[in-house]
Amino acid sequence: MLNQKTCLGIESTAHSFGIGIMDSDGKCLANATDMYRPREGWGIHPMEASEHHKKVCDDVLQKALADAGVSMRDIDIIAFSQGPGLPPCLHAGLNFAGKLAEKNKKPLVGVNHCIAHIEIGRLTTGLDDPVTLYVSGANTQVLAFVSGRYRCFGETQDIGIGNALDKFGRGVGLEFPAGPKIEKMAGKGRYIELPYVVKGMDLSFSGIVTEALKKYTMHQSRGNSDSLKQSNKAFLSDLCFSLQETLFAMLTEVTERAMAHTGKNQALLTGGVAANSRLQEMLDIMCRERDAKFRVVDRAYSGDNGAMIAWTGMLAFDSGIKTKKEILPRQRTDGVEVRWI
Ligand code: AMP
Ligand code: MG
Repeated sequence: MLNQKTCLGIESTAHSFGIGIMDSDGKCLANATDMYRPREGWGIHPMEASEHHKKVCDDVLQKALADAGVSMRDIDIIAFSQGPGLPPCLHAGLNFAGKLAEKNKKPLVGVNHCIAHIEIGRLTTGLDDPVTLYVSGANTQVLAFVSGRYRCFGETQDIGIGNALDKFGRGVGLEFPAGPKIEKMAGKGRYIELPYVVKGMDLSFSGIVTEALKKYTMHQSRGNSDSLKQSNKAFLSDLCFSLQETLFAMLTEVTERAMAHTGKNQALLTGGVAANSRLQEMLDIMCRERDAKFRVVDRAYSGDNGAMIAWTGMLAFDSGIKTKKEILPRQRTDGVEVRWI
């Protein structure tokens, strides 16, 4: 029997189906995930991802319970990712969570996915009041806690940064997810001029990707001899380098401005793209120059995962927040009342 309270959290907003179990001391007892992989050359298909989640949910639950060494009787709260996300995937998560809660007579709590990324970041890095740069496949947001809510200070006006990298990768024949492959290819390339699109505090990526792909196609069309193939490879490497330099400089600029506006001296980097060492380096330099603290959320907790939903579900439940049994695919970060801070 456990002394602390435990929360089981279910993540299902996009490609990952995760179940995490956290105790009320902030200890992670389990963090099991199974990820849907799109067919080669394709992006995420929402219905296929949802079918994947339905197929793996029981196995992921068994794995999480076994890893934690607990049974459903030891769980006090069940949390699920309520939004934002792909509707069929959110439905799969809610249905599973709802049935589990009903069968085991446990309270059900809905969690905002973006806020969960911040809360697990605060817990695991020790930063108490950061400006958060949340960069994933579908999301790109600069968030900070001001007047009772997490406010969005800047965000993408079109696609998420991860999707932008993946879209470029798809166009040049790199497998999904392309982010890590682009990082590897970027090495020490030569800078090729690309558009730089920061509008006020917001960002736009799709035009940059289109321009990079146009440059790639034009270079490719020059021919197919061995020496040209070699030069095409070098050119692709230059483009990967330039894409990273441009996109990450935009992210760093907006994060820095949010820190200046809010007067906060901590920056937190999270989401799947947080794994990128060039992005980490740029933010680190910016923070050093401002005498601010910078932390990157550990990989186990920076991609989509169930532990972050469990931890935020615990905070929300303890602060008395009640949830309707519904999905909120377009839920805004600042639309959520944060009573626990
Ligand atoms: P998430 O949506 O949070 O699971 O993150 C997935 C996204 O992160 C995908 O778009 C990946 O291409 C991207 N990603 C993962 N690792 C890296 C990396 N090292 N550099 C850039 N992007 C990455
Ligand atoms: Mg995410």
